[in-house]
Formats: sequence, structure tokens, C-alpha cells
Amino acid sequence: MMLTIRQEDLKQIIKAAKGSEVEVCGLLFGKRAGDKILVEEVRFITNRLNSPTAFELEPLEMVRAIDEAEERGLEVVGIFHSHVDCPPRPSGRDLAGMRLWQVVWLIVDERGRYGAWVLREGNVEEVSVILR
Ligand SMILES: [Zn+2]
Repeated sequence: MMLTIRQEDLKQIIKAAKGSEVEVCGLLFGKRAGDKILVEEVRFITNRLNSPTAFELEPLEMVRAIDEAEERGLEVVGIFHSHVDCPPRPSGRDLAGMRLWQVVWLIVDERGRYGAWVLREGNVEEVSVILR
């Protein structure tokens, strides 16, 4: 599986992660064709847990973001969030979330590392991140 994202979009997420003491999070909008995902838009959403070890997208903001993106013909192709002082791999809590949201999970950390993951038939698979 491949996730293509603009370099400046990824940089923006990492920059936000570096400047935050809590996990930052949001949605990736774009298009999906088979195993190829193209991210057209990154949308930050408030982490309503305001926590350095967990996140939850603020529901109203999330619904609004999805509605606006759908009007432009874009769908939710991924979820992103940051880890604070912890490698960008899915935590146990993330795995539970991945079962509910079966899209690509992009995780970054405050050091600028990143990884993308998807749950397939119960197994976590790494997704290649292609910068454009
Ligand atoms: Zn996480």
C-alpha cells in the first residue's frame, strides 16, 4: 500500500508536533484507488483529550471537516496524529482505534520521524509514504 502526500503537508504536521506538548491530530482527505492513496488535504482537528499519550478527534470539528471535504469530492483517506517522546508506531490504544477506523494511520513524532500503518485482516502493515 502507498500513501502519497505533499512534502509541505507532512512538514506542517511535523512542525505542529514539534510545537506541542500534547498529541496533535487530524484527518487526511483525498482519493483512493486500490492500494494507492493520494492525500490532497490535511486538516488539523482539536485533540479533545489534550493528552501527551492519547488523542480523540473533537467530534463536531470532525463532522464539519468531513462535510466540507465531501463537497469538494474528497473522502477521508487517513487519520494522522503525533507521538510525544515515543516512536511513530501504533500504540495499543491506536490499534483499538484502527479497528474502528480502517483507513491509513499516519503517525509522526516531535523528532520528525514518521510512519504510516494500516490494519489488514487484523495485522498491522506498514504503508509506504511517498512525498510529492
Ligand atoms: Zn498513537
